[in-house]
Amino acid sequence: MRQLGGQVIKRKVSGRLVDQEESLKGEFEAAAIVNCAGLGSSELADDNMYPLRGALLRVDNNGRHFPKLNKALSITLDEGENSQNMIYLVPRENILLLGGLVEKDKWSTDITLENYTPIQQMHERCIDFLPILKRAKLDVDEPVRVGLRPARKRNVRLEEEKGTTIIHNYGHGGSGVTLSWGCGREVVERIKSLRRQYRGQRLSEGTAHRAIADLVS
Ligand SMILES: Cc1cc2nc3c(=O)[nH]c(=O)nc-3n(C[C@H](O)[C@H](O)[C@H](O)COP(=O)(O)OP(=O)(O)OC[C@H]3O[C@@H](n4cnc5c(N)ncnc54)[C@H](O)[C@@H]3O)c2cc1C
Repeated sequence: MRQLGGQVIKRKVSGRLVDQEESLKGEFEAAAIVNCAGLGSSELADDNMYPLRGALLRVDNNGRHFPKLNKALSITLDEGENSQNMIYLVPRENILLLGGLVEKDKWSTDITLENYTPIQQMHERCIDFLPILKRAKLDVDEPVRVGLRPARKRNVRLEEEKGTTIIHNYGHGGSGVTLSWGCGREVVERIKSLRRQYRGQRLSEGTAHRAIADLVS
């Protein structure tokens, strides 16, 4: 993205995007806004978002404590069972990730192997699945990683906000990495379609119109 001339600017946006579309585009000299704010879309797009909390254990995978794993192994979540039953072992260079957990509407990321029974049970599930993991050593720097998957009551939202140049792309739940390439392409197509829509329109002065002019050029 940077190689193509993009810039990364980190800052929180507060309030609904539709109410500040023109000021944001003016501030960043942007032609369009793509909203990829995940759970933040509760506020930015006035939507019903909730987290699916997940946690991973990180253990050394350097071959010292058990034979190094080079392939991922997994058993997908069986939602019919109504229990935490997902198992996955994913090698990342010298670290092996042990998972997983899916907890609806849990917002706190302050859970550890010591203070949270479902993480202990997740650990036990992984050991039952591959008993050599009993010998695994937790990574000293970051033994547990906790994250909030951004879920939406009505599935993924990938569409324009009507009458604006805002494109929403959020609510991918537990599949955001998998879907990212396809969704990214779809966003590009929608930006091209906005360009076609605005091409030929009479543009007057003002930031908003400069933004659209950028889009058309
Ligand atoms: C434990 C775990 C396991 C996972 N496993 C898988 C997997 O197996 N397969 C898979 O495909 N995906 C997986 N994921 C990915 C995950 O499920 C999500 O789908 C993915 O992270 C969504 O990406 P995103 O960029 O849409 O949202 P996020 O990663 O949530 O990013 C949103 C960004 O927007 C920023 N933001 C929010 N509000 C504002 C605001 N107001 N102003 C400015 N910035 C804001 C946030 O700071 C954040 O940087 C996993 C995630 C976790 C936590």
